[in-house]
Amino acid sequence: MKIYNFEEDLDRPSPSLDEQYMQEALKLAKRAFEEDEIPIGAIVVSNGKIIGKGYNMTERLNDVTAHAEMQAFTAAANFLGGKYLKDCTLYVTVEPCVMCAGASYWTQVSKIVYGARDDKRGYSTVAEKIIHPKTIVQSGVLERECAELMMSFFRNKR
Ligand SMILES: [Zn+2]
Repeated sequence: MKIYNFEEDLDRPSPSLDEQYMQEALKLAKRAFEEDEIPIGAIVVSNGKIIGKGYNMTERLNDVTAHAEMQAFTAAANFLGGKYLKDCTLYVTVEPCVMCAGASYWTQVSKIVYGARDDKRGYSTVAEKIIHPKTIVQSGVLERECAELMMSFFRNKR
C-alpha cells in the first residue's frame, strides 16, 4: 500500500510534462557521462509516447555527427517509418548545435524543448533561422540539472 505524503507535495511542486520528459533525456545524458561521452541526451515524443532516444556517441562510433539529437531523429524516423517528425517534440538536454538544428529543419519536428543553453556551439549563436519556421522552440527546462552535468564532465577533463 502506498501512503500518500502530502507534505512532500507541498515542498515540491509536481513536475510539468516537459520536465518529466526532460528527466528521460537527462537519464540518457547520464548514460553518456558514464561512457565518457559529452553528456547530452535526447528523446523524441509523439502523442505522449517516446519513439526515439539518443545520447552522444561521438567517441564510441568515432563519428563527429553522432550527436544525441541525430540518434533520436533516426530512431524516431525508423519507428514511424517515415522521415518527417511532424507532431513530434524533441527534448534535448543542451541547445542543439548548428548541425542538429539543421537536421531538425529537415525533419520538420513540431517542437524543440531544450535544457541548458550552449553559448559556444548552440545554433542560436549563429542564426535562429536554421530552425524550421513551423518549429516551436522552448528553452530552460531543467536548465540547472542539464548544465551541471555538462560542467561536471568538463571539470573532470581539465
Ligand atoms: Zn549537434
